[in-house]
Amino acid sequence: MDRAVTNQTIGTTWAGTHTFGARQLHVPHSLEQARQVIADATRIRALGSRHSFNDLADSPGDLISLREVPLPLEVDAASGTALVHGSLTYGAVAEQLDAAGFAMPALASLPHISIAGAVATATHGSGDRTPNLAAAVTGVELIDADGELRWFERGETDFPGVVVALGALGVVTRLRLAVEPTFQVRQDVLNGVRWETVTERFDEITSAAHSVSIFTRWAEDAIDQVWLKSREDSAPTELFGGRIATEDQHPILGIDAINATHQGGLLGPWYDRLPHFRMGFTPSNGTEIQSEYLLDRRHAVDAIQALREIREQLVGLLQVCEIRTMAADDLWLSAAYERDTVAFHFTWFREPEAVHAVLPALERALAPFDARPHWGKWFAMDRSGLEQVFPRIGDFRDLAGRLDPAGTFRNDYLDRLVL
Ligand SMILES: Cc1cc2nc3c(=O)[nH]c(=O)nc-3n(C[C@H](O)[C@H](O)[C@H](O)COP(=O)(O)OP(=O)(O)OC[C@H]3O[C@@H](n4cnc5c(N)ncnc54)[C@H](O)[C@@H]3O)c2cc1C
Repeated sequence: MDRAVTNQTIGTTWAGTHTFGARQLHVPHSLEQARQVIADATRIRALGSRHSFNDLADSPGDLISLREVPLPLEVDAASGTALVHGSLTYGAVAEQLDAAGFAMPALASLPHISIAGAVATATHGSGDRTPNLAAAVTGVELIDADGELRWFERGETDFPGVVVALGALGVVTRLRLAVEPTFQVRQDVLNGVRWETVTERFDEITSAAHSVSIFTRWAEDAIDQVWLKSREDSAPTELFGGRIATEDQHPILGIDAINATHQGGLLGPWYDRLPHFRMGFTPSNGTEIQSEYLLDRRHAVDAIQALREIREQLVGLLQVCEIRTMAADDLWLSAAYERDTVAFHFTWFREPEAVHAVLPALERALAPFDARPHWGKWFAMDRSGLEQVFPRIGDFRDLAGRLDPAGTFRNDYLDRLVL
């Protein structure tokens, strides 16, 4: 059965920031149906859990979600890999993986996102030595425009172009991920760390735990919170002049901490500590727009100074800003391609016109650092700007031309900005 949802009921992105214009959404219940739907379509794109904020996932024709196609988890303990269903959420797969004794090395701030959707946009968590989520992928299975299943393996020439692919190469069925033995994590939150300490001791702060997030609303003197996620064999030893929070906090001040993963040094499973937000609860705010810019971490302190200089333009619109780091990878369209990275994330109030107006100023402030925008969030940069900061975009264009010559998986976003 292919349950087709018509245009009237597809609705919007999770945050309501884009209304889908696609004709219909197919929700097939078997791989054979999925392949047939795709082979029959002239324009079709994969839809994940719709947590992107722009029109990236939309289609001028149809959409398809494989979430109802049964593709069981297969763990190969000998090679330390797991073959996962791309259209399930990290949250849905994590507990099964944990029960089998394994963990994923990184998770984003929320477990609600689909694995293939997150990988497609180079979604990341945080950690000086932790690359983004897509870097764990060692094999990709997708349905191409002819409805044929294709497998791509790490080590093949095209592989670094196939993983972070913005849905442009086909509909991913399964991904093989490198996994590691399951581990526990404790989470501690610091309040009151001063800006001077952040800029003078940036590398010490970001290396103080397995995963570190700095939350700020760009107040003059101090940041709001530092979240330290430490693996079971370690605990924070340095408070950087701040104080340990005694109660759980939400990154956006004023929102109930019930939605956040437990803090206060309480050990818990990796999948319930690496994300900031708990599965089954509302992540972030919900009424929001997000933007994010990623640059070489060598420029972190200069970029902080540049943003502090334009803070007056940011503060009224900002619910919170998050600063994270991640290790370099080799994936062509990854915002961490070939550079250890610092990411500046902005959760704005949902005021579209004001956000559109501030983005050019923000991008000007970060331009000296060749900042790359997050593909799934709002940005102002045009095609030529993207070409300057994503050096392999031309190779990706050639790859898409070879794998999808008829443009079955193209949409307005890709035509406008990438292909
Ligand atoms: C509250 C919130 C917090 C967030 N936190 C983070 C964070 O911590 N770090 C970060 O980097 N980002 C973060 N994001 C952004 C989010 O991770 C990305 O936008 C991600 O791509 C969303 O995944 P999705 O499954 O919702 O994909 P969608 O938004 O549905 O689709 C995104 C892209 O993936 C493609 N796609 C989806 N499924 C498939 C498939 N099966 N095959 C091929 N292509 C596919 C789509 O075609 C589209 O191009 C956050 C977003 C929200 C709403």
